[in-house]
Amino acid sequence: MERTDTGLFIVIEGIDGTGKSTQAKMLKQALEEAGQTVTLDREPSDGPYGKILRDSATTGRLSAQEELDLFHKDRKHHLDKVILPALSRGETVILDRYYFSTMAYQGQRGFDQQEIRKTNLSFAPNPDILFILDLCVDQARERIGVRGDTTNEFEKRDALQYCRDTFLSVRDEEFAHVIDSSKSIANIHAQMLRITLDR
Ligand code: ADP
Ligand code: MG
Repeated sequence: MERTDTGLFIVIEGIDGTGKSTQAKMLKQALEEAGQTVTLDREPSDGPYGKILRDSATTGRLSAQEELDLFHKDRKHHLDKVILPALSRGETVILDRYYFSTMAYQGQRGFDQQEIRKTNLSFAPNPDILFILDLCVDQARERIGVRGDTTNEFEKRDALQYCRDTFLSVRDEEFAHVIDSSKSIANIHAQMLRITLDR
């Protein structure tokens, strides 16, 4: 999808524990201090379809296909109601997860990643800046307090490695920036702010 607006669309991706939420908040605050109007949001969104997805994370009742369809419905709704209107007003949007996460997590559930990407690009624009927060799976798990010594945890580890690799697979896009997330919170923030203000 092509854009004609003047806003700045920033997406932050990475597996859990890489620091997305931490950095998203810090970036929002710094950009506001620089005079920008910033919307910080996440996917799944707080819209009706996003709510179903969030609830299902605890109940686990959706099939893989139902889940994929809901992610796409949620993203369309979110773009129409929140993201594109803000960008049209010339504002900055920071998004914690976007279609790259669908490629990673639904790809991991068996769907073709490139098909997912094609489907998304038919209705969803690419961001101006994509930050790929990259950290090895064990360190990321450690940060969110997971101990990786059961069989189940070994399986999850493999699934997360797949997701990490998926995020890194888009690193050659002109809008993508891989950030070494083993660095300090302050160091990462400074890098992300510099890249954003340089644009
Ligand atoms: P995500 O949103 O990607 O899951 P969070 O921002 O919630 O990650 O961070 C997960 C945990 O790791 C939090 O306790 C946070 O304080 C910590 N953390 C985030 N970034 C760093 C960093 N660069 N170094 C050390 N700890 C970090
Ligand atoms: Mg988070």
